[in-house]
Amino acid sequence: MSCPELPPTVDLLVVGSGPVGSAVARRVYDAVPHARILMADLGPRLTGQAGLHLGNLPAPERAAAQARSQGRDPETAPGEDGALVKKYADRGTHLLRPRRDDEPEQFAMPAAVMSSNIGGMGVHWACTAPRPLDSERLPLLPGDDLDAALSVAEHLLSVTRDAYPATEAGDLVLKTLGRLFDGDYPVGRGVGTMPLACTPRPGRRPLWAGPDTVLGPLAHAGATAGDGRFRIADETMCRRLLFSGRMVTGALLEHLPTGTEFAVRASAVAVCADALRTPQLLWASGIRPDALGRYLNDQPKTVSSVHVKDGPTAGLAARGTVEFGGDIRDLETGRFWVPFADPGRRNHGQVMTIDTSPLEGVDPALFVGMVWYGAKEIRAEDRIEFSTSEADAYDMPDMTVHYDLTARDLTGAEQARADQEAVAEALGGEFLERPELFPAGSSKHYQGTVRMGPVDDGTSVCDTDSRVWGFDNLYVGGNGVIPTATAVNPTLYSVALAVRAAASISARLIGV
Ligand SMILES: Cc1cc2nc3c(=O)[nH]c(=O)nc-3n(C[C@H](O)[C@H](O)[C@H](O)COP(=O)(O)OP(=O)(O)OC[C@H]3O[C@@H](n4cnc5c(N)ncnc54)[C@H](O)[C@@H]3O)c2cc1C
Repeated sequence: MSCPELPPTVDLLVVGSGPVGSAVARRVYDAVPHARILMADLGPRLTGQAGLHLGNLPAPERAAAQARSQGRDPETAPGEDGALVKKYADRGTHLLRPRRDDEPEQFAMPAAVMSSNIGGMGVHWACTAPRPLDSERLPLLPGDDLDAALSVAEHLLSVTRDAYPATEAGDLVLKTLGRLFDGDYPVGRGVGTMPLACTPRPGRRPLWAGPDTVLGPLAHAGATAGDGRFRIADETMCRRLLFSGRMVTGALLEHLPTGTEFAVRASAVAVCADALRTPQLLWASGIRPDALGRYLNDQPKTVSSVHVKDGPTAGLAARGTVEFGGDIRDLETGRFWVPFADPGRRNHGQVMTIDTSPLEGVDPALFVGMVWYGAKEIRAEDRIEFSTSEADAYDMPDMTVHYDLTARDLTGAEQARADQEAVAEALGGEFLERPELFPAGSSKHYQGTVRMGPVDDGTSVCDTDSRVWGFDNLYVGGNGVIPTATAVNPTLYSVALAVRAAASISARLIGV
């Protein structure tokens, strides 16, 4: 059966509408003048402009939209614990499985989350978008090729290092970080302001970039955008990919509100359904290479906050007040970068200056938030197991995560703690929250589950164009494609790999 509102045949079907699916759709749309593209997502459309970053909405509207992203099962929605930095699920996300109080924090990834909405996690993300460095970078590609793709990704996401105006507090933090850590880097590298995906706005908060920025003109119309070649199907889940031999022929979709199932035929399919649900969909479709769901890695995340009583104020007053609705990012006045380096620094640090003046019970002085992400040791046994008998809330194969930290991972987390203690001391601040290793999954940077490789030897799922081994026209996208151990926030990297996938799809559709 086909759906009366959707085309029964398209050139490209994209499953998932986050930044990565949006990048594939936009690049193919621009490169192939005749291409008809359908992007299907199981989640609802939250805003008229598809994929608008919710940080750009006023607080009450934002909260309502976040609540609609939290999936079908109320037991997996974020708890109302009032914490400014959530350990388990941020607003707008939902846990992979309900939380149990007695479970160990670093085993089996209890904080694994996803977002189910048009735009995916990309309407909730913090927009930190630095480039991967040293051993984080893909050794499978010539360096220039990766850099070219990263430049396109930076353009698609409008990445800038000038998101915030300089403040006295920011200057103090930057100099302090430089004094402590610049000696760890090769000549010409060091700490600096953080590359962020946004457009700076003098006197106001930056305009945050979501998948809408990546989609560009395709985000601005209703269900049909541009010249009718591109459509977004919301609340439309891909249940199964259809294939014959080396060719994917299309997919079985379900419109969730009505339960109507229908098939769409496609010349190429790109599955960009996050690092957990992309392998789930392949598995449900009977595509089960040995590496599928394996090499799962998340970046051990260490978090602390410091109050610098006698320091300069952070600078919010300089750009006006904000309506504080419990989202700490609205109080941010600057973000700084302590980059990864190999050898030298296995953690990647993100340091925020925050004006605390609207916070009850906290003196209005400089508040510094620190988040360190570590590069995890990658192992095949860290994996998702897909059930043959149990189903999840979306009636897809239930997922169980097998995951643990190694001695080396714990040493990295110990270094993160020591770094943050050194920053607090050098700033003359007092910890409001001492450095804490957050539960596994809390970074939301899951990688490796559909990883890229140079040859089809059982240790990878796709080639360096993100094409699934054994298929001519099936592609995967998202953080799951990244095969290296990274500490950097991975979205820019994944969008760059999607730019390469889109070039391969476009060449195929053009018939090159
Ligand atoms: C609060 C928060 C802060 C973050 N901050 C940062 C940051 O600062 N920097 C950074 O790099 N990363 C950050 N991230 C992570 C970042 O958002 C993700 O890396 C990014 O969104 C991944 O993009 P994606 O398109 O691969 O997947 P997603 O954005 O997760 O989108 C996947 C989409 O697939 C859909 N889907 C899944 N299964 C199916 C199916 N079977 N059929 C149809 N649709 C399906 C989902 O509904 C979802 O919309 C953050 C995430 C959160 C939640």
